[in-house]
Amino acid sequence: MKNEPLEALAAKIHAAGRVALLCHVSPDCDTLGSSLALAEAIRMAGKQAVVFSADKLTDKQMILCGAQEVVQYNPHDPGYDLGVLVDCSHPGRVGDSAQVLDKCEEVTYLDHHVPEESGEVMSGWRDVKASSAGEMMCALIHHMGVGFTSSIAANLYMAISTDTGHFSYSNTTAQTHRAAAELLEAGADSARLTEWLYRRTTVGYTRLLAQVLSTLELLHHNKVALLSCAYSWLEACGAQEGETEGMIDYARDIQGVEIAAILKEGPDGVVRVSLRSKRRVDVQKIAASYGGGGHVRAAGCTLKMPLDQAKEEMKHALCQALEM
Ligand code: 5GP
Ligand code: MN
Repeated sequence: MKNEPLEALAAKIHAAGRVALLCHVSPDCDTLGSSLALAEAIRMAGKQAVVFSADKLTDKQMILCGAQEVVQYNPHDPGYDLGVLVDCSHPGRVGDSAQVLDKCEEVTYLDHHVPEESGEVMSGWRDVKASSAGEMMCALIHHMGVGFTSSIAANLYMAISTDTGHFSYSNTTAQTHRAAAELLEAGADSARLTEWLYRRTTVGYTRLLAQVLSTLELLHHNKVALLSCAYSWLEACGAQEGETEGMIDYARDIQGVEIAAILKEGPDGVVRVSLRSKRRVDVQKIAASYGGGGHVRAAGCTLKMPLDQAKEEMKHALCQALEM
């Protein structure tokens, strides 16, 4: 079956000599792994590609092949023929990297999120049924006629694994497994990568986890679970900012919980909220009502208020969403 948006994206990449790939803020292995894989595929086709991330990578993310080549926006940077937003589709999602877009002749995206309420600002390839940008990237790189190297395979495997909770969330489909099987055949070392991503923690992470779990609050007949993390705890525990990723699962996984939230205080006084739901509630809608977004079962937003106030705000919003 013809996939016109995919073909249009491939054609744009084919026509470009220099391509900028932009990751979303608070990058995860989906946006980073997919961008690094595409960068490698573009270089194999004899062109130039640079991966931008406004935020630094965590130590864990340094396992991505080519992680050290990811750069932040530099005003001396020359221009690009094409800019591709990866795992997002709105310039507001790439933070300071948005300045790169001013230097691109054309801008497009590859994304699997629900579109922002403000509407599309450019054309690109969106597939909200895809588990991950990584899964879409498998198809794109295929279409480009570039073979999967072991590093492309490893990066895409980590991208897909991250967004599917290692093939456990409801976004995991037969197609997800087909893509993963292909990546394994191309040399992705599943045991090594999953050990590194999920079975290898630090003392700092474990201390922080203990702190965060001690904040657990259950509301609305235990259907809403809330966790929080004060910024000062990171230093006190010896943990890194990105290490809170995944902690929300401890709240989500509790039997009977329908909506889980974790509120993370940032260095600048704003609070990052992650939301998850199991069956009924559309957390993308809740996040969008605060200017955020994401997916039906996983979304996020930012609240510009003190942590305690943000908690009260979220408790109210989440309980209300359950009553609807
Ligand atoms: P997480 O809670 O893991 O940070 O994010 C869950 C999902 O929601 C991810 O797919 C992420 O890209 C998306 N997301 C998180 N925060 C925001 C936000 O502020 N705006 C939008 N549009 N999407 C977000
Ligand atoms: Mn993603």
